[in-house]
Amino acid sequence: MSQNLPRVPLWVSFASACQANKGAKTGCLAGDSTLKRYSAFAIAREAFRQHQGWERAWRSPAPKSSYDVVIVGAGGHGLATAYYLGKNFGITNVAIIEKGWLGGGNTGRNTTIIRSNYLQDPSAAIYEKARSLYETMSQDLNYNVMFSPRGVIMLAQTEHEVRGYKRTAHANSLQGVSTEWISPARVKELCPIMNIDGPRYPVLGGLWQARGGSARHDAVAWGYARACSDMGMDVIQQCEVTGVMTEAGKVNGVNTTKGDISCNKLGMVVAGHASVLASKAGFRLPIESVALQALVSEPIKPCMDVVVMANTVHGYLSQSDKGEMVIGGGTDGYNNYTQRGSFHHVEETVRSLIETFPMLSRLKMLRQWGGIVDVTGDRSPILSKTPIEGVFVNCGWGTGGFKAIPGSGWAMAELIAKGQSPLTDEFSMYRFGEGKFIDESVAAGVAH
Ligand SMILES: Cc1cc2nc3c(=O)[nH]c(=O)nc-3n(C[C@H](O)[C@H](O)[C@H](O)COP(=O)(O)OP(=O)(O)OC[C@H]3O[C@@H](n4cnc5c(N)ncnc54)[C@H](O)[C@@H]3O)c2cc1C
Repeated sequence: MSQNLPRVPLWVSFASACQANKGAKTGCLAGDSTLKRYSAFAIAREAFRQHQGWERAWRSPAPKSSYDVVIVGAGGHGLATAYYLGKNFGITNVAIIEKGWLGGGNTGRNTTIIRSNYLQDPSAAIYEKARSLYETMSQDLNYNVMFSPRGVIMLAQTEHEVRGYKRTAHANSLQGVSTEWISPARVKELCPIMNIDGPRYPVLGGLWQARGGSARHDAVAWGYARACSDMGMDVIQQCEVTGVMTEAGKVNGVNTTKGDISCNKLGMVVAGHASVLASKAGFRLPIESVALQALVSEPIKPCMDVVVMANTVHGYLSQSDKGEMVIGGGTDGYNNYTQRGSFHHVEETVRSLIETFPMLSRLKMLRQWGGIVDVTGDRSPILSKTPIEGVFVNCGWGTGGFKAIPGSGWAMAELIAKGQSPLTDEFSMYRFGEGKFIDESVAAGVAH
């Protein structure tokens, strides 16, 4: 498991966990706006005083009556947008408003696969920007997000996939994204527990991205929240946005369950509820919301140090640091908002993976959960202006937006601050009416 080690010393992870747990359990009080940096000395100091001296990771203030920018949704994309508004553009009079708890949406429910091996140029640009920001995220945020670039294999198990992934490998080499087409023997070498000679779907090769991998999802949300709070931004939890206030076609605020808040600009970053919020603002989005689910097995000894995606059979697999096999499948076949997903889909996912991973048949499954993902017709996201001046929307990441969080936040912040970003130009919500699709059905139709 040597490639699997976190890139940040363990003590930072320990400090982060202590800090985050404290914030999560107790809620967060207003405090200094400049947080202390985590360090080995702080660990030693706190060990001697029974960990009584840790600061809250982020403040939990009451909303002010007015902000320059309001971001709706404290998932990874909303928090990253706020972070880069402050870091790259000096805009810090910002509120991030969350109806539940931060990271409690898809950001805290996903299987954390990170890769950037997409086919189309605009996708490769934003996903590779994100992947490269993940490389230094722990250091940038002083928070261990446990980025683990252990490598991702996308298995080709039909001739159609062989052609598709070879084409993607060629496109990636033109885009400057480092991926390669590998043989079945190399797949077996990278992941020895795999049966590559299955009767229905033998492994015919794979698309390998050596610097893809995973990161700790909660830590990404917590790290951004801490950094935003430290810049003086307000992260307001348990507060639902119920309406958008406008005057002469321009936004001037939001109605919330904690009162009205005025703002000059509004970012809607609410994933599976994007079309619900858009309808409250009076416009429609081309989004379907469906449940996507995942499950984990009982923990076992280390047996797999890469991430594997098997798109033909709709399954993907990695091993967590605790030893659980983390398994994800496809989406439910009908629209819903249940955050659970149907039982037969779990059964189907595991059954179909067993041909390629026979050892799964001997494991007990521990728990299962779901999230509501926001899917577009071309399987690409929307980062866009809207019919209301000053309102911007970020959604449509569907089943694969965790990997995009830092790149999406970077680009969305630029769009909000300057009205334009080279990373978002192609992702307008109006592309569906103009026929300018960014077709990522091979890279993103099912998997992550
Ligand atoms: C089971 C599963 C597995 C996945 N696996 C992967 C993977 O391996 N790799 C990958 O890249 N992606 C994966 N994804 C997709 C990824 O999780 C999402 O694309 C990403 O987390 C979306 O982040 P977000 O910040 O846009 O949304 P969220 O994290 O969902 O945040 C949106 C927030 O908005 C809040 N909100 C909604 N409406 C309102 C309102 N009216 N007022 C205030 N707040 C509101 C919600 O409570 C929520 O917290 C997976 C998703 C699921 C469900």
